[in-house]
Amino acid sequence: MKPPAFQYLRPNTVSEALDMLAAAGEDAKILAGGQSLVPMLNFRLLKPSALIDINRIGELDFISESETGLRIGALTRHRVTQTSPLIAKHFPVLTAAMDHVAHLAIRNRGTIGGSLSHADPAAELPLLMTLLDAKIRLASRNGSRELSPAEFFQGSLMTALEEGEILTEVELPYLPANTRWGFEEFAQRSGDFAIVAAAVTATLSGEKCDACRIAVIGGEMPIRVPEAEDALAGIVPTAEHIKTAATIASEAAEWNEDLHASRDFRKQLVQTLVARALTAALSPSRPVH
Ligand SMILES: Cc1cc2nc3c(=O)[nH]c(=O)nc-3n(C[C@H](O)[C@H](O)[C@H](O)COP(=O)(O)OP(=O)(O)OC[C@H]3O[C@@H](n4cnc5c(N)ncnc54)[C@H](O)[C@@H]3O)c2cc1C
Repeated sequence: MKPPAFQYLRPNTVSEALDMLAAAGEDAKILAGGQSLVPMLNFRLLKPSALIDINRIGELDFISESETGLRIGALTRHRVTQTSPLIAKHFPVLTAAMDHVAHLAIRNRGTIGGSLSHADPAAELPLLMTLLDAKIRLASRNGSRELSPAEFFQGSLMTALEEGEILTEVELPYLPANTRWGFEEFAQRSGDFAIVAAAVTATLSGEKCDACRIAVIGGEMPIRVPEAEDALAGIVPTAEHIKTAATIASEAAEWNEDLHASRDFRKQLVQTLVARALTAALSPSRPVH
């Protein structure tokens, strides 16, 4: 399969890329790792007039600590995210999730900006951004803006990105001390997209859970489940509390139904995986982040 003809542009800076994007008009597409875009071109699902290849823009390729959080540039490859000591230090739940993203060859090329912009409902990075309250930063010739994951992800393969905008970076606010985590995924084979995945954090004072976060994929887009989070806040959670929170999570959305899994199976998976992730997070053997 061959892609349709397109103009190929290769900027060296974000500013150049934004100028090219504005000049090329609404049909233009950003090319990052190409792991989702190129198959869509080859299947002729997309026929962009121009591809703006951002792979030479060094200023988009970084991981750095700021005072408020860890900043990750849009061009950071999945393999770099997976193996970054800074990410492992501050967000081991993200490191754990990256082990489930595709295969090594795809992780070598795929980027965080590409994954978030593509917004596949079964992808791990949107889930982790939702769990970690990421600040998603976008730039255009008119300036820049910052969105929460709930504002950015608008549905399956749909985001708040507007014409002329590039996702430049995310910032992950640091987690409070004594925060533990859990990540669980069910996929048909290693490296496949998730049928369902659950990611949680729990901030503890001794055995008491001060606050927890529960995020799930399996529906149209990643969600947090505040009702389930509230069910565990301020108590010493028992197995019964965890079961209650997992049941609330399983009822929080209309789960997808497709050839891989029925809606009911996904609902059961959400219950099981949220319970397992919470049990791991609340286990004394789980290292504090
Ligand atoms: C066989 C296979 C298995 C996979 N399995 C998984 C999996 O298990 N989990 C998972 O999460 N992913 C999986 N993927 C997808 C992979 O993670 C891709 O890397 C990712 O979805 C897209 O990233 P990319 O950098 O390749 O983006 P590209 O393919 O280059 O672009 C994707 C889309 O995002 C837009 N875009 C890219 N960067 C930006 C930016 N900075 N600003 C604005 N728009 C931008 C492009 O215009 C395009 O519309 C798989 C892919 C393949 C081929």
